[in-house]
Order: sequence, then C-alpha cells, then structure tokens
Amino acid sequence: MALKGFHMIHADQLVKWFGPTRAVGGLTFSIPKGQVVGFLGPNGAGKSTTLRILTGYLPPTSGSASIAGHDVLKASEAARATIGYLPESTPLYPEMRVEEYLDYRGKLLDMTRPDRVRRIGEVCDRCGLSHIRRRLIGQLSKGNRQRVGLAQALLHEPAVLFLDEPTAGLDPDQITHFRELIAELRKKHTILLSSHILAEIEKTVDRVLILKEGELVADGAPDELCGRVVGGSRVLVDVQAQADALSAALRQVTGVSEVQTTPHDGWCHAEVTPEGDKDLRQSLVKAVTDKGWPIREVTRRKANLEDYYLQLFREPGDAPAAATA
Ligand code: ADP
Repeated sequence: MALKGFHMIHADQLVKWFGPTRAVGGLTFSIPKGQVVGFLGPNGAGKSTTLRILTGYLPPTSGSASIAGHDVLKASEAARATIGYLPESTPLYPEMRVEEYLDYRGKLLDMTRPDRVRRIGEVCDRCGLSHIRRRLIGQLSKGNRQRVGLAQALLHEPAVLFLDEPTAGLDPDQITHFRELIAELRKKHTILLSSHILAEIEKTVDRVLILKEGELVADGAPDELCGRVVGGSRVLVDVQAQADALSAALRQVTGVSEVQTTPHDGWCHAEVTPEGDKDLRQSLVKAVTDKGWPIREVTRRKANLEDYYLQLFREPGDAPAAATA
C-alpha cells in the first residue's frame, strides 16, 4: 500500500452518490511528487466533491484514495497530516485576528507552541500577511481573506496541497501574485488546484485533469491538450473587402477548412481554420493581395486550453469550437 508513495495523490475508482445524484463516477488517477495539477470541469462536474474525498472530509460511496501512501479513510490522521486544504469557501472566523486564527488552526493540527510561532511568522511572510496579522479577519478584503485561507493550508508544511478555486474573487493583480506564489510553492509541494480561469491554469500547471459529469475526460500537459484542438492554430486577417467576396477568396486557398468573417467599419475581419496545423499565413496574404485588397493585420493564434475545453464540451451539432471564439 505504502509503495504507492511514489504517487503523492492516488484515487482508485472513486464513486460518490448524493441520494439519486452521482457526483463522482469511478475516478482513477495518480499524481507524482512535485507535480502541479489543474482540476477543471464545468460547475457540478464533481471537482469539489473529489477534493473533499481526497482531503478526508467526505467518505466515498465506493473506491479508495491515498495521500503519500496513507489511505484517507483507514489512516485518516496520517493522511491529513500531509495535507493542506483551501476549501471553496474557507470557514474563517470574522471575530478573530489573523494571527489568532492561525494559532488556533495550528493547535488543531497538534503543532507545538514554538512551531506555531515560527510557522505563523513564515506563512504570514510568504502569503503577504505580515503587515495585517493583527487585523480582524472580518475586516479584510476578499483577496486578503483568501491569503489567510492559504496561510492556514500551508501552516504545518504539508507535502500535498489541495486548493479549491484559489483565485475566485481575486482581482488581476492578486491573481498575478497568486501565480508567483504557486511558482514558489511548487518547489516543495505537490499541488492539485481547481479553477475556472483556464488561461490562469494554462500558465500555472504541469498537467490538467478535466472532469465531465463525474468522469475523467482528459488528462495531459496543457501543451499536449492544446495540440489536440481540431483546426490547430487559426489565422486572423483584417482586410478591406466585402465579407462575402473575402470569404470566397480565402476558402479557395489550399489547406483552408473554415472561414468566419465579421465586417466592421469598412474592413472585414476573417478567422481562418486550417486543415491540420498548417501555417497558412503566406498563402492567405497572397490570395488577398492578388485581389488588390489592403491588409492591415495578419496573426496566427496558437490553440489554447480554452479552445480544447470548448471542443471537449461542445454539444454534437454545435458550431465547431474553432469558429465560436
Ligand atoms: P463542482 O465542484 O465541479 O462544481 P461538485 O462536486 O460541487 O461539482 O458537485 C457535483 C454534483 O454533486 C452536483 O450535481 C452537485 O449538485 C452534487 N452535490 C455536491 N455536494 C452535494 C451535497 N452535499 N448534497 C447533494 N448533492 C451534492
């Protein structure tokens, strides 16, 4: 059992039913030490339920999970000792001061007083709370409360961190700060974090797991998943021409699969999807200049995680994700 220690997080056929609702349906995955993994999926896909099972807050209906080789049910104390958890809505105590709350959390984690004093100083420093550690939690901004949540998750130096929507409600500046923090934390921790912000995940993680209706539908490095986007990298051109004429001319270029045009103030913006991942810029420019139309922009946009996500969740019969940006 403990040999699974190579995998800091291991889920084996996890299933969770809430009455008639199946929240998680047979989830199996392993995360090795030091990996930072993004956990994605639409609302209701089962992310929070999975995180709650992995952190020992909720028993699965069937299946098992272990953290650093400790079964989350049979060895729950040992498992919890290696876990730091930032839940979706952190139950913080508004009437407590930041340092008081962290001290209280440290006591719950059985940390000795000297350990608590040392670690509270360290996590406040790391999470940018040092200047407000004597403030009442109830008076803090959403961003600072999120930092307190993260500070409590890091308090006992856990090997594994579970972060449920850590950037929810943060402004772009705070999100940038958070990204820097993750970059630093990845040196010491194995991290599983859920988020709705795909662009953020793409920059932050080594690997992405995508859930759909409680099942794993994708598992790979962001680049690998982007490589699976049908139509690959699209070319965007801005041309002074009639939309219909432009569309017809571009469609005749060899290797073009799809053209979407949007007219605006005398110009026409075209988004061209290639067959495969060909770079069509030169042949598109030639097709336009042969007609004598002025061009003011040509850009090739690489497929991103959002394109892949849209492709994955597109209903059969919907327009191709490549054409809906
Ligand atoms: P996500 O985090 O991906 O948004 P959740 O894990 O919160 O998804 O929810 C998965 C499904 O389980 C949803 O259909 C949700 O309504 C249901 N669910 C989650 N928690 C409970 C609960 N405590 N009681 C009943 N149903 C629940």
